[in-house]
Amino acid sequence: MPIREDGQKVVGLAPSRQSSFYGRDIVSVRQFSREDLAYIMGVADEMRSIVKRVGATDLLKGYVLANLFYEPSTRTSSSFIAAMQRLGGAVIPIHGVQYSSVSKGESLPDTIRTLECYADVIVLRHPEVGASEVAARYCSKPVISAGDGIGEHPTQGLLDLYTIYTELGTIDGLHVAMVGDLRNGRTVHSLARLLRLYDTRLSFVAPDLLRLPEEIKEELLAAGRPVAETDRVEDIIANVDVLYVTRVQKERFADLRLYEAVKDYYEITPELMAQAREKMALMHPLPRVGEIHYDVDDDPRAAYFRQMENGMYIRMALLAAVLGKA
Ligand code: ASP
Repeated sequence: MPIREDGQKVVGLAPSRQSSFYGRDIVSVRQFSREDLAYIMGVADEMRSIVKRVGATDLLKGYVLANLFYEPSTRTSSSFIAAMQRLGGAVIPIHGVQYSSVSKGESLPDTIRTLECYADVIVLRHPEVGASEVAARYCSKPVISAGDGIGEHPTQGLLDLYTIYTELGTIDGLHVAMVGDLRNGRTVHSLARLLRLYDTRLSFVAPDLLRLPEEIKEELLAAGRPVAETDRVEDIIANVDVLYVTRVQKERFADLRLYEAVKDYYEITPELMAQAREKMALMHPLPRVGEIHYDVDDDPRAAYFRQMENGMYIRMALLAAVLGKA
């Protein structure tokens, strides 16, 4: 199908109420304005209420999603599948690329060109930074990144932002701290970039080896956001509204001795949570491998299970929006 000159992809009949998401690729959170974010969070609210009331709708009946994962995933892949199915659409799941023609040496552009013959939208997770942008260039249907290496994870960023909003009722005015592997954690990169659009204060908690990339810090400073860095959770836990904890990304380490040296740097325990505000949100993109003690799970401030549920509503909203049905 043709790609229009303004970059919008033609994905079917023009919708009656076009959103700026219609026919677009979702490859980096840098493409969003505050208006876009308010819109997509509003649609996610509608999706939540549909699921709670009737479980599913036929909004995307007749549409097909290709879910193409070159890296492991539990939440992102299954929530995209659930999202498409709850919207009445169908899914081509490709989760073990070793069983596809990728193992015969097929290039990403050729795999994408193949899938666009069968699907209306492609979700792609890939180990290389920028892979979804490359895929989007070759694809006349919308491509949604499900994470590209240590780059970004835009749909996780959106669901994290939505979780902050649903947990605390606002985003402006908040102090958000991010803890753990800020260097390799793509979810951190996307969420930090989204928060630069809001009146937020940001603290980054990491050992030297895992500090936030300079480039992202500069983007935040250029947007006028106050940024602080420390390597101790104890320095900030008493005065944050959001504590966003991440796993050390073992798969990104060439030298596993370095991973061993930092893997157990942080653990959020009930004792630490006792120092935190009564009203705050403890978040984690998951999986956790020791950064949050299981005894914290019953704390009402532990938002990570609600956070992953929110992922399905945000992904329903995105699928409907890029296909012009939101
Ligand atoms: N699931 C998230 C991601 O794919 C976080 C993680 O793996 O640590 O980036």
